[in-house]
Amino acid sequence: MSYESKMFEQFAMPTRKQVEQALLRALLKHGGIIKEFGAGEEIVDEIASDFGLTEHQRSAFLRTVYRKENRVKKALLWHRLLFRAADSLAKEKLVSRPTQTFQLTNKKEWMLTEKGFDEALKLLNIPTAKKIFLPIKSYEVQKIVKQLSESPRPENYSPFDKGKKVRKAMVESAIRTRGFRQAVIEAYSCKCAICGMKINSPDSLSWEVEAAHIVPHSSLGRDDIWNGIALCHLHHWAFDIGWLTLLDNYTIQVSSQVHSLPADYGRIGDYEFLRVCSIKNTRILLPSKSEIHPHHNAIRWHRQNIFHQ
Ligand SMILES: [Zn+2]
Repeated sequence: MSYESKMFEQFAMPTRKQVEQALLRALLKHGGIIKEFGAGEEIVDEIASDFGLTEHQRSAFLRTVYRKENRVKKALLWHRLLFRAADSLAKEKLVSRPTQTFQLTNKKEWMLTEKGFDEALKLLNIPTAKKIFLPIKSYEVQKIVKQLSESPRPENYSPFDKGKKVRKAMVESAIRTRGFRQAVIEAYSCKCAICGMKINSPDSLSWEVEAAHIVPHSSLGRDDIWNGIALCHLHHWAFDIGWLTLLDNYTIQVSSQVHSLPADYGRIGDYEFLRVCSIKNTRILLPSKSEIHPHHNAIRWHRQNIFHQ
């Protein structure tokens, strides 16, 4: 038995498998990412507390003797165990390593992979079908988000995906759809672009705001950021049904039919969710980066095909 294993045993530390599972649960709790842990990071203590580790266990250390340099290096035992567990998760491709994630996010973080996401959901008895609604990052989805948010804006953009029907893998398109949702919601800071409504679920696991397609899927609309806009449920419905549209300068146009609505329609108390948009020249809330604003080709299509004058 190695010195390290002996120490783990002597201090009655949890097994590596148990720590791996605790890490997966912690990753899910923290939105799919955990900062590369140096000793003293909050997460190191958080997981130690999950196991109810005593002060004695938390402060135990390993000594490595470097004979040549004639010095002794000390490393915290608990920290080493955490690192071993994370390393093993990376070998099983359940997480991406901080060096790998850095290429995507410029941050040194451990991030769940799709495989790790599934495994973490299994540990918490959450059905995988819920994946699409959970704001949890995964390496594969982040790759799509990066691609969606950073591709150069095309001058002559087509919001239609003609090849959609022949898309080969369902999994691929599910990941793309999640990438679309996440890229759009994040670009609009989780707020409705029309009313600014921002709220999440009590467990912080999902946002009320939705990533709406300007050219809908049913008309072969693409999962591109230029064909997306973040809207609350109510304004998403009104946009899809044709009550609202956008002009090229991103001001909101409301159907003239709004004037013939009975006074008690479209109201929540004093708030009139359609009439509030008919105030002249109200511009939607846009992401700061103009490269990712909705494309004119998509909003023109919406005006001509969905909007009711
Ligand atoms: Zn809204």
